[in-house]
Amino acid sequence: MNEWINRLPKIELHCHLDGCVRPQTVAEISEREGIELSADSLDELTSWMRVPPSCTSLVEYLKRFELPLQCMQTPYALERIARELAEDAAYENVKYMEVRFAPHLHTRQGMTAAEVIASVGAGLAAAEKNADIIVRMIVICMRHHSVELNMEAVRAAAQFLSKGVVGVDLAGDEANYPPELHESVFQLADELGIPVTIHAGEAGGANNIRTAVERLHARRIGHGVRLYEDAEVAQLLRERNVPLEMCVTSNVQTKAVDSFEKHPIRLYLNRGIGVTVNTDNRTVSDTDLTKEYNLLSHRFQFKAADFKKVAVRAIEAAFVEPELKPQLLRKFQEEWEKLGI
Ligand SMILES: [Zn+2]
Repeated sequence: MNEWINRLPKIELHCHLDGCVRPQTVAEISEREGIELSADSLDELTSWMRVPPSCTSLVEYLKRFELPLQCMQTPYALERIARELAEDAAYENVKYMEVRFAPHLHTRQGMTAAEVIASVGAGLAAAEKNADIIVRMIVICMRHHSVELNMEAVRAAAQFLSKGVVGVDLAGDEANYPPELHESVFQLADELGIPVTIHAGEAGGANNIRTAVERLHARRIGHGVRLYEDAEVAQLLRERNVPLEMCVTSNVQTKAVDSFEKHPIRLYLNRGIGVTVNTDNRTVSDTDLTKEYNLLSHRFQFKAADFKKVAVRAIEAAFVEPELKPQLLRKFQEEWEKLGI
């Protein structure tokens, strides 16, 4: 590992709360709340929470979220898990992060969507007090949920605009639930003034990227791996300045792309597509941003200039309050100068 990569200031726009739970925390919350786990040891629990090398699809990948979700049904659990994720990110020098979660996956014990958002927000705020990191929230609408439920999620997000929530997203099983099913949900988000990012072109084709941008008001695209399928859609993203939130390790695990060698991140960067670098799910994918940066350095010949380019692009694309962006950019420039790059 390169020491300078560890010390690089980092920014992350695509990170799922339920994919980033520390196994030790799942063990402790299960014990506290009397939840039976099928694992006998922390090692076994950790392996249950990680995607196996044999994973063949996004649907299979998503099964790894069920276990942590069982332990994410109370304000205590959500607050703690959110705080720990932000602290873990701050530890590897992430300066700004957007954490995303679907409120309606956390209502099994009676919490409302607003209570879920407030609990996550409290955990992130606690981390911000103790560490040099700014964290904001993205509220996820699930593809397999009804339009009505997703509209409720969007309305809950609107209540927290300027109180930590900065955007909404559509996530889940892309292959079986195309984006147009939820067009009216994101029409509402747009009317309410909430920035939109959409998972697209991961387990579905480039056409879903076009739909996300043209009909669902997406300002950013989650993954967008399969953009290479359609040059016109690539041109659309360049024209509208819509960047991709790429997550290389996860993209190979979900088979959005067959192998690291075939991952198009370098190609997109060279062709002027906006590229940002993210983890997707630190626990499920067994990664963190430092590992992703090392991967890019070793397999994709990313140099300091490339890391600076993706960081600047991520700051531009962040949904954070615009007045914080110059401050964030200054902080990055100061750190790059200290590193002599
Ligand atoms: Zn994702």
